[in-house]
Amino acid sequence: MAGDGPGAVTQHVAATGTTVNGRRLELVTGDITHQSVDAIGNAANSALRGGGGVDGAIHRAAGPGLLDELVSRYPSGTPTGTAADTNAHGLSARWILHAVGPIWRGGSHGEAEHLAGAYRSCLELCDQLGARSLALPAISMGIYGYPPAEGARTAIRTVGEHLRADTSLEVVRFVLFSEETHAHFAAALVEELEGGPDAGGASSSA
Ligand code: ADP
Repeated sequence: MAGDGPGAVTQHVAATGTTVNGRRLELVTGDITHQSVDAIGNAANSALRGGGGVDGAIHRAAGPGLLDELVSRYPSGTPTGTAADTNAHGLSARWILHAVGPIWRGGSHGEAEHLAGAYRSCLELCDQLGARSLALPAISMGIYGYPPAEGARTAIRTVGEHLRADTSLEVVRFVLFSEETHAHFAAALVEELEGGPDAGGASSSA
């Protein structure tokens, strides 16, 4: 892993986390563009042409070369529930993983499967690329309107499943933009990894 880097400056609450199968799953509050990790996840739209929210912040920080790479490598974008990799350009990372989460339409349109798929694709790309550290945002939980408690549980469950299996990843860090979102992820971490029958030997630490 590449270390804490300037991201530590923007963390408003203490980092929390858990250990799954000897690997770290961390929660911090901050700006994902300030993280120094191997791979940074982005909450992109299916066209992969930039947008608002975290996508806009990542494009601004990465610089115009990011859009050029997306246009040339992914002329048709990528479907909802998948992710596509690029170089990190101006970001302090090796790769950006552009994940497309679902727009919330009430919950009966495959939203949970698509959200899990977006996270899973990022995790699988990390294994293909050999990434050891990954920072992830709360995909779909902004403009796309996914209910945060439900979305956080899906996010934590999907990452927890991946960390229990064979993976190149040593650290997965959710970088949440507000303390409210952080609180939803902290609750989900207890429910999904520490409290239930599938806890898998996870142990928490502050
Ligand atoms: P989506 O369209 O998938 O909902 P958004 O970018 O609107 O994506 O929001 C996803 C999450 O990312 C929200 O919780 C939002 O507050 C958060 N977010 C926005 N900017 C940043 C940033 N710079 N770093 C980390 N998270 C961010």
